[in-house]
Amino acid sequence: PRTVVIGHVTTDVIVIPARPVVDGDDNEAAVRITPGGQAANTAAWLAWQGTPVTLVTSVGDDADGRARIAELTEAGVDCAARRHPGVPTGSVVVVSFGGRRTMMSQRGANVLLAPEDIDVALIELPDAGHVHLSAYVLLDPVSRAAGLRALAAAREHGLTVSVDAASAELLRRTGTRRCLEWLRGIDLLIANEDEARALTGHDRPGPAAGALTATARQVAVKLGARGALWADRDGALFTVAARPVDAVDTTGAGDAFAAGLLTALTSGADARTALRLAGELGAAAVRVTGARPGPRAPGGAVPATSQ
Ligand code: ADP
Repeated sequence: PRTVVIGHVTTDVIVIPARPVVDGDDNEAAVRITPGGQAANTAAWLAWQGTPVTLVTSVGDDADGRARIAELTEAGVDCAARRHPGVPTGSVVVVSFGGRRTMMSQRGANVLLAPEDIDVALIELPDAGHVHLSAYVLLDPVSRAAGLRALAAAREHGLTVSVDAASAELLRRTGTRRCLEWLRGIDLLIANEDEARALTGHDRPGPAAGALTATARQVAVKLGARGALWADRDGALFTVAARPVDAVDTTGAGDAFAAGLLTALTSGADARTALRLAGELGAAAVRVTGARPGPRAPGGAVPATSQ
């Protein structure tokens, strides 16, 4: 069955300044332009594993939009992307300094995702089995209707649903009570520690994950270099450690993790096996620069990431 991923595609401009950013300074920086967007990254990692995937997104009718869609198509992602003339494709400037990252995003065409886009895509995909929604769609007031439609449409079509919690800051700003209300009844929630804390008020990820099973049937909390934690309504609660790797760039680790988890769970793997595969993909992502996988593995197999 096909996984339908719903959310953003962006062009990321990663800026690594030589010195701290100060008003009026004439600083130097390393600048790298790479493809990104949480949903697009997860879709690319799904395709890399050989999992059939469609990305529902929107772009501007511009060179950036064409390039982003061409790359994804080349990577094996089926793209259902409406083009919006006169609106730029989304982009993000990431300023990375001393282990801290500041992001500034131009929402562009990403917020123009509409409920009809979801319906059209799901009607045209008779082999769809699972919907994965990046919560950025829900957390922006302009695209919120499309996010809510994705959750409702998945239920109507009898598809399982997962949500990536996307951003602790945006969850807080939106109001976590409202967010939990929207997410109630989903099959799987994927969150990092900050997002789990924002949603529950629990500082420790174990209690946070346990509390979140009131909202989602299954919960995965990402713990960075420490691995990830699983909790579900059947009472399971365990951690799987991360593979020790030399981290080159952690951008997109969470998005790759989600793709590993979804590939395993949608093909019937048990939770522990799924968390292990998710960790393998997360570790693969931190070993490469940028948020996307390299060329597809032959036959869709996941190459060994041991070193
Ligand atoms: P996010 O980017 O969404 O905050 P994390 O940073 O927790 O998510 O990364 C997601 C997953 O990627 C982790 O659960 C882990 O499996 C893997 N990962 C992240 N950072 C490292 C690291 N330094 N070493 C090994 N694995 C990592």
